Amino acid sequence: MLPELSHEEILRYSRHLLIPDVGLSGQKKLKAASVLIIGTGGLGSPAALYLAAAGVGRIGLVDYDVVEFSNLQRQIIHGESRLGDLKVESARDRMQDLNPEIQVDTYNDFINSENAFRIAEPYDIIVDGTDNFPTRYLINDLCVLTGKPNVYGSIFRFDGQASVFYAKEGPCYRCLFPEPPPPGLVPSCAEGGVLGVLPGTIGSIQATETLKLILGIGEPLIGRLLLYDALDLSFQMVKLQKNPNCKICGSNPEITALIDYEAFCGIPAHDQDEGSAGAEWDITAKELSSRLKGGEKIRLIDVREPHEREISNLEGSELMPLGQFASRLSELDSSEEIVLFCKAGTRSARALEILASAGFKKVKNLKGGINAWAINVDPSLPVY
Ligand SMILES: [Zn+2]
Repeated sequence: MLPELSHEEILRYSRHLLIPDVGLSGQKKLKAASVLIIGTGGLGSPAALYLAAAGVGRIGLVDYDVVEFSNLQRQIIHGESRLGDLKVESARDRMQDLNPEIQVDTYNDFINSENAFRIAEPYDIIVDGTDNFPTRYLINDLCVLTGKPNVYGSIFRFDGQASVFYAKEGPCYRCLFPEPPPPGLVPSCAEGGVLGVLPGTIGSIQATETLKLILGIGEPLIGRLLLYDALDLSFQMVKLQKNPNCKICGSNPEITALIDYEAFCGIPAHDQDEGSAGAEWDITAKELSSRLKGGEKIRLIDVREPHEREISNLEGSELMPLGQFASRLSELDSSEEIVLFCKAGTRSARALEILASAGFKKVKNLKGGINAWAINVDPSLPVY
């Protein structure tokens, strides 16, 4: 039994009702549907707005973060008036303003193996709006184990991907990527950047696929991976096969419960905005400043990209971008005191691992990167 629509709802959704493939019964299906959106950032913003506007009756939002100034370049569900507020509350209020007819549930929580089943339980479809591998594998496994479709999207700089992973009818994310990439190989948007409108395109595609799944119309992106290149303005479609030996959706699954995804991927399950190499390898900005002021001879190595030095720079530092780091080790001397830095301490922590495994002992990682220096030592530098 599908719910009825009020006169107000009929007027609100009239442009849907005019489409024969949607019509009154389709709009009722939307009203009866429930969707969980994990992440209310770049992808979650357009997905949540369009699904709310479309009249999806119940939408859950999961996020643990607060709205930050650097989010506003792309996370269009939030605004300057909500800086510092919980993202799930900022998003919910905007969605309820757009459409008070729907129910919006909020989970101000870090989704993990302990709470994932409970959070996902009331929802038919899961939209993956996250930006890290541990959560991506968690969402995949959760969807396979609960039999729910996983509407996937990912973004980086000018490139986006989308698919629908639905193990009942096609491959899952693990069929495509059985193992996560080595830690640090694939940079996040927090490190490598993203064109602000790119998640708008991919998040809107995720919303489109979600609506098609609810309505049961068209050809869903099941078994296909969409690749979008914004610079070429080209869309490419790659056919995906189900892997019969997939560890979770294959015929003899090895994985029958949620696992420890941070251990599996070797990285934390959040966008790493402040990198650390571990307490014994880190140096704080204040500590570095006082050692430099004390006249200590310390070689400062900047592992960022050349264009980042135009944004902010530490006097006397030398540039050795992370990508060239391993091949330029001969330029460094293990008898010298070395401090590595980048934007926020993540890339320099990786550079430090390379040095440490090459036997360097007198090397430190500037915790929080040049941004921490700008905040704690030299406010004349911008934070980016
Ligand atoms: Zn699979």
